[in-house]
Amino acid sequence: MPGDDDTTGRRLRLLAAEFTQHQRRSPDPTGRTATQAEPPAPINLGTLDYMRAAVAEVEQHTRAADPAAGPYRGSVDRVYEWARERTADLDEERQQAREALIYRQGLEHAIAMGDTAVIRKHPCPQCRCFGLYWRDESGKASCVNHYCVDDDGVSHSWTLQQLAHHYIASKSALSVRAT
Ligand SMILES: [Zn+2]
Repeated sequence: MPGDDDTTGRRLRLLAAEFTQHQRRSPDPTGRTATQAEPPAPINLGTLDYMRAAVAEVEQHTRAADPAAGPYRGSVDRVYEWARERTADLDEERQQAREALIYRQGLEHAIAMGDTAVIRKHPCPQCRCFGLYWRDESGKASCVNHYCVDDDGVSHSWTLQQLAHHYIASKSALSVRAT
């Protein structure tokens, strides 16, 4: 599903658009006037650093697999397409690792934009129930199920990395079953 696959790129594009909008306070050199009616979304000044770090991580991951990949010079939101192209010949396991990274960044981008509801569509990897909620202070998703606790009675909680890994693994298990 290309639509689904490009979710991470689309989210990064939204972040980039917010950032660009914020930067465009000075008159546009092309002479065009902005027709945007809505005020620009408030932007965290760390957004540019955040986007750079996201791209750098994908770049490093890709170059580790394909040293000939070289530096990435395209637009930020296309970095995922580039990574997939450069690593399309890798074995299944490494392609899954790449997809888990891309998916995890997609969750991060959504949360960076304040959309923590993306967590809710994931079942808890421990009890399988849909009751995860995002906790900013820990940077993890916690399970709401009172019975889903560790030996100390603390709710099971999951990093985005863990959720992405489970999501990609379950998706791949489905596609194996379908063939
Ligand atoms: Zn649970």
